[in-house]
Amino acid sequence: MPNEHNDYVRDLVFALKKLPGIGERSARRLAFHILSQNDAAAFGLADSIINAKKHVNLCKICFNLSSEELCPICSNSSRNSKMLCIVENPEIIYVFEKSGNYNGYYHVLHGLINPLEGVGIDDIRIEELVDRVANGSFEEIVIALNPNSNGEATSFYIQKILAPYNVNITALARGIPVGSDLEYVDKNTLAEAILGRKKF
Ligand SMILES: [Zn+2]
Repeated sequence: MPNEHNDYVRDLVFALKKLPGIGERSARRLAFHILSQNDAAAFGLADSIINAKKHVNLCKICFNLSSEELCPICSNSSRNSKMLCIVENPEIIYVFEKSGNYNGYYHVLHGLINPLEGVGIDDIRIEELVDRVANGSFEEIVIALNPNSNGEATSFYIQKILAPYNVNITALARGIPVGSDLEYVDKNTLAEAILGRKKF
């Protein structure tokens, strides 16, 4: 019969196991690590989760994570207003910014079309994208989605729906291995893929 203490530990392991890439063993390891820390460190971790969750929302324009109405990128008027880069999630913006080869704006879809999991065009930020392109002054739209079947399907759909607008649609150059996650591509490979982008 587990005592109360074990229930708390089990709850913590269970919560950690829900994180992406964390299996039972890693969850246990993290839980034991957190519990072995002093109060300040463990409560600090909990506080930073609570604070981030309370104060970070989505940018009203590009849907990047932001603690203000507009994210720092959308509030920066010195960026290239002719370019818009479409990404799957805010993490990719971070990777792009680190690569240092892109100075336009972004649009975060928050997902990819995924028929097997029932994710359709209305479940991601495509309508908002079309609005931005229709009302903006973009000249080039860079589609920067992961090279997997959902990424391809989404890219194809976006290319079709943006076709009536007077914009060049480009895609990242090949060189990013098929099936890989842009989050994990090293910054030089990504920089080359940005520089070598070509017409969709
Ligand atoms: Zn923004």
